[in-house]
Amino acid sequence: MNRRPAFPVRLDAKPAPAGSRPAAAAAAPAPDGVGLDSQAVRARMVQRLAAQGIRDQRVLAAVGAVQRHRFVDTALANQAYEDTSLPIGLGQTISKPSVVARMVELLLGPATGGKLGRVLEIGTGCGYQAAVLSLVAAEVYSVERLRQLHDKARDNLRPFRLPNVHLLFGDGMAGYARGAPYAGIIAAAGGEAVPQAWCDQLAVGGRIVAPTQMAGGQQALVVIEKTARGLQQSVLEAVHFVPLKSGIA
Ligand code: SAH
Repeated sequence: MNRRPAFPVRLDAKPAPAGSRPAAAAAAPAPDGVGLDSQAVRARMVQRLAAQGIRDQRVLAAVGAVQRHRFVDTALANQAYEDTSLPIGLGQTISKPSVVARMVELLLGPATGGKLGRVLEIGTGCGYQAAVLSLVAAEVYSVERLRQLHDKARDNLRPFRLPNVHLLFGDGMAGYARGAPYAGIIAAAGGEAVPQAWCDQLAVGGRIVAPTQMAGGQQALVVIEKTARGLQQSVLEAVHFVPLKSGIA
């Protein structure tokens, strides 16, 4: 069987032919000397995520397909499939896989099957989550306020050739009006409140998933849904994200 992937990417998402090495993994670029069969390691990570309660098959397939080790320094590549956040430079971190999976699952919402429409990501960082999002959404607009990380993400993503990922350098607090309205907005940095611009740029039926500071100073994951009758907010579990900052640098 030679099923074509539904998107023009070089992620090793194809099912392995019985009794052989995964064809797509073999075709994928060599794993940067990390000395691991990254396809097999990712498959185990996906099993752990499923055991932890991630149910959405679209999310499990996406995190199973994206080579996370290609987004971190070579020295950290052997930790890429552990459930841990990792430094990506300039004091920023890539979220742990379970948090990425949880947030993307929340972003997709209860409707199963199909892809989300346009998505806005605040905080491109190394570009890992943008790659995951590119597999579950039609278009991904991702904004980063640090020039060096914006450039790094561009370099990291280039070999994957994801034509539906659009990297933007700027202050994501203002959203990105030109791509609006969005079916989903996901923040990788936590602010004191969800900026009004994000709510304005959200489509009716869409959702925002954002770490947000609570009254006690603790961060929690906040989900805002835009319905025909207005915005509905739910506060979920505690999280620890880098701060959402204004301006560019
Ligand atoms: N999703 C990223 C995680 C990056 S960490 C990944 O997969 O690697 C969060 C990022 O948000 C940092 O790079 C930080 O610089 C960025 N950030 C913080 N405030 C921002 C803002 N107002 N606009 C855009 N990016 C912001």
